Amino acid sequence: MVSMVDVQKHFGDLHVLKDINLEVPAGQVVVVLGPSGSGKSTLCRSINRLEPIDSGRISIDGVPLPSEGKALAQLRADVGMVFQSFNLFAHKTILQNVMLGPVKVRGMPAKKAEELALSLLERVGIASQKDKLPAQLSGGQQQRVAIARALAMRPKVMLFDEPTSALDPEMVNEVLDVMTSLAKEGMTMLVVTHEMGFARRAADRVIFMADGEIVEDEVPDTFFTTPSSARAKDFLSKIL
Ligand code: ATP
Ligand code: MG
Repeated sequence: MVSMVDVQKHFGDLHVLKDINLEVPAGQVVVVLGPSGSGKSTLCRSINRLEPIDSGRISIDGVPLPSEGKALAQLRADVGMVFQSFNLFAHKTILQNVMLGPVKVRGMPAKKAEELALSLLERVGIASQKDKLPAQLSGGQQQRVAIARALAMRPKVMLFDEPTSALDPEMVNEVLDVMTSLAKEGMTMLVVTHEMGFARRAADRVIFMADGEIVEDEVPDTFFTTPSSARAKDFLSKIL
């Protein structure tokens, strides 16, 4: 589904992705862990080409990442992304936020897009808020809208980059619950998070990054109980 082969990326002199090789098969949930600055966000952003890479190959469903134009827009529509900041359109209602992509990018008739948006808002537990503006919702509710908006494009894969880091603690679980149910339904997901409970519960695999490299690639149980690298041991000793 997502395939990265020999991927290299620099920011000036800084080598941020060092020969990354990663395959995420359809339906798999991969949690990406690692210290600050290890390259987790850059890895995520390279998958929909928000960050162009220096060399190597990335493909989605066997199709190489296009570099520009209509093909790139199409690819981005297939890759849902949810960030720490919700990035909702401030002057549009919740319903309009979720309808917009299907109408503008997929060319879906408004009526159909509205039905789809309502069903997704229902699914993330927020349909009753549909006519409000983003600022009238809590952070956890806004993040659930952001997930519904990404799902409205019927993405092949969902990327999450610390989706709960900006939330008050009491709102973290409502977002993680939505992500856990997506994972159970078979969505292909790459999730950068510091929520170890989610990693243990929902991940098929844990990728541990340090200094731009994938240092470990393990099933969660093995990673958390018997990490093999000193860097992962050190990381876990600080957070668990
Ligand atoms: P965090 O846990 O803090 O989010 P991260 O693992 O997501 O960290 P990245 O954001 O991928 O790390 O950054 C990797 C390295 O690249 C860091 O040293 C960062 O300062 C640097 N970096 C990221 N984006 C840029 C940029 N646009 N220009 C220059 N350097 C960058
Ligand atoms: Mg980051």
